[in-house]
Amino acid sequence: MHDLVIRGGTVVDGSGSAPRIADVAVDNGLITAVEPHAGPGHREIDATGLLVTPGFVDIHTHYDGQVTWDPFVTPSSLHGVTTVVFGNCGVGFAPVRKGAAPYLINLMEGVEDIPETVLSEGVTFDWESFPQYLDALAATPKVLDIGAQVPHGALRFYVMGERGADHAEPPTPEEIESMGALLEEALRAGALGFTTSRTVKHRAKDGRFTPGLTAHEPELFGLARAMKRAGRGVIEVNSDFDPGEFEIMRDAARIAGRPLSCLLVQVDRAPDLWRETLAQIRAARQEGMEANAQVGCRPIGVLMGLETSIHPFLTHPEWVAMTDHTPEMRYRRLQRDAELRRMLVYGHPQNEQTRAMDFALTRSYLLDETLNYEPDPQRSVDAIAQEQNRHPWELALELMMRENGKALLLNTFENYSGGDLSVVHEMLTDDATVLGVADGGAHVGLICDASSPTFLLSHWARDRTRGPKLPLEFLVNKQTRRTALAYGLEDRGLLAPGFKADINVIDFEQLRLHKPEVVYDLPAGGKRLMQRAQGYRHTFVGGCETVRDGEHTGELPGKLLR
Ligand SMILES: [Zn+2]
Repeated sequence: MHDLVIRGGTVVDGSGSAPRIADVAVDNGLITAVEPHAGPGHREIDATGLLVTPGFVDIHTHYDGQVTWDPFVTPSSLHGVTTVVFGNCGVGFAPVRKGAAPYLINLMEGVEDIPETVLSEGVTFDWESFPQYLDALAATPKVLDIGAQVPHGALRFYVMGERGADHAEPPTPEEIESMGALLEEALRAGALGFTTSRTVKHRAKDGRFTPGLTAHEPELFGLARAMKRAGRGVIEVNSDFDPGEFEIMRDAARIAGRPLSCLLVQVDRAPDLWRETLAQIRAARQEGMEANAQVGCRPIGVLMGLETSIHPFLTHPEWVAMTDHTPEMRYRRLQRDAELRRMLVYGHPQNEQTRAMDFALTRSYLLDETLNYEPDPQRSVDAIAQEQNRHPWELALELMMRENGKALLLNTFENYSGGDLSVVHEMLTDDATVLGVADGGAHVGLICDASSPTFLLSHWARDRTRGPKLPLEFLVNKQTRRTALAYGLEDRGLLAPGFKADINVIDFEQLRLHKPEVVYDLPAGGKRLMQRAQGYRHTFVGGCETVRDGEHTGELPGKLLR
């Protein structure tokens, strides 16, 4: 008698091979059979007409803090995700000296838009070393499996103090030595990688660039040698990839003898740069290196609404004057005060923020019921305003005031220079890429792309109209086995005997995203964007059911990966 049998579903097993009808049997948390007719189970699920896939593995998240207060790791766990890796982009919370937490919080707030009040209240910081942080993570209950990486920012600040954050001088050889020793210790204790941010997009809240930005070869190579000694871990980098940059990271990965994983997005200032970087990654692979690019499956979506962290009116004195209003009060005032609306639109200050917003509105779209993440540029706020002979800001305000002031505009921030997802198609179908960049747990007031796995399947295999679709088995492979292997997680991402029973049972016809919304459920009443989904009939983590019909069951079987 099996513990569980999922019977007669359409199995998309994660290997990339064609869907087939089969029973999936589970015993003691592992898959024990995938065959046409499995024996009986204590529990049986009739999956006729449903998809059965491995649980999704999301290797690019920032749940470093959230996992310590939210055992349900939302929204990812509501999108079929059963494993998350965090500590990406060089930011995180260990190692940390007593009293140094404020800098790491400041860095996280600036880079990933997780408010200081939320982190100060939510994260306990009752650890100092990375191994102690891992022990704390292991001890917290959680709905899915988690893996942590060592962030360059924390490492540098721990060893160098303020000098590690202000870019005035490089570390001494002794400091490089101690950073290496700490990294080695963390990797041996179970960290999954070392991560660094080398992009001018990332700044701490205090305005300073991230510590890793100006790290030079001696430092990076010193850290690489530590990884070599430990013999484990991935090097993850978020970089602008200016000339010479890829070569440095490639050489570091070579010295480490470890895989290199690079974030890859299309940016408007250089829409073809991603192709050069991808070509460099491909060349490195041809030379036998393990290297991949982490790509997204939709535009990086900055959501703008009256309650989100970014929108056109943020720096307007009249808006600032309403800071103490509740969202409800502010909406009511906007509704009844035509003069206020007029001033917000026609009297806005000229500054860096408002100029950025002028541009943003040329690629922002009302996110209505259709939840169109591949919108037609003719439908941008700016284009419609031109057509109607109106000020784009007036239209933006009117649109954001819909739905009782809750409506959202989708600003296609990256991956959308061409006005459709053809570059994403190109990225997804490249053999050197895996799914990444969804940033679960981060940018909580402006981006909610942690829902990407749901979009990946529903849009790319079913709903897309503005270009070719992709086979389901290809997409599932890319979000399961391929992402798992990118981090050496050999035991998952495949529905086959002996593998971990992380399983989704999906009603594919019903699979869809719900609208993102602003909710106030973070510690200290902090706000974040939340997006749910429908169509996930069952999600299992290690054979234990964690989600049923889109709701958590309350089970918390997740483990720390070491
Ligand atoms: Zn990131």
